[in-house]
Amino acid sequence: MNEYQERYQQMIAVKGENFNTCFYCGCIATEFDYAPPKKYADFYIETRSEADFYQVPSCKECCTALKQEKSALVGERGDIAKRKIAKKYQKAIHVYQMWNEDEAQELDYNLQKCVQAGIELGRESSKRSQFPGFEFEVDGEKLKISNIPVKMITVFNKEFSDFRDALEFASLTYRVPKAKLKDLFSENNNSFEIAIESYHTKIDKNLSDKQLKKLCKTFSKAHKQNVDFVMRTVIYYMEQDNSLSIELALNKLYMERVSK
Ligand SMILES: [Zn+2]
Repeated sequence: MNEYQERYQQMIAVKGENFNTCFYCGCIATEFDYAPPKKYADFYIETRSEADFYQVPSCKECCTALKQEKSALVGERGDIAKRKIAKKYQKAIHVYQMWNEDEAQELDYNLQKCVQAGIELGRESSKRSQFPGFEFEVDGEKLKISNIPVKMITVFNKEFSDFRDALEFASLTYRVPKAKLKDLFSENNNSFEIAIESYHTKIDKNLSDKQLKKLCKTFSKAHKQNVDFVMRTVIYYMEQDNSLSIELALNKLYMERVSK
């Protein structure tokens, strides 16, 4: 037994119909989720941060989905679990929202089976993602917890409930140094998308500035031209016609100014 086991109180459904039911999504509960997760129990005890310390009846899917979530509040964990269900099954939920059974009947056999399966899965997932929880008892006290909306942080189409996790993922996936990304995130309206894009646009620009200097220098040497004049003209050509590459602009310069 975990040394903190006694800290956690078991949530027991008040009504029989909710026995063995996942508190988060309403499926059959086969496991327990812990709010906070046991590995963070110390942290919440030492910092005296708000924490439920409940043992929550949970289905396997919700339990797995919440494994990395640090939240210590059942209401928040429930919100995260529901969001994850909605996201994981978004295609089926879309089919469920778009089609009704009668319309599906009119499709040819294969498509019909596909759409019907989508409707079925979508209906169930949609219901799970809106499950309101149930009344329960801990230590003889009757309670009802409502959903606590968690502000999710998105990195393109991935969602995170924790800033550190989002930063870690974004930095690794989009190759932006963490500290730089953190600054850009706050400079850009708390948006990872804009931060990442602005970083790469800047990198691209630095690369092409470097390239421009290098090519113009080589050109000036080869054709005995003033390097400032060459760069100024190349930039002018490229601004006039944005389909021109540096090479094409240099070629144009050669044709128009040098070879004559
Ligand atoms: Zn569940």
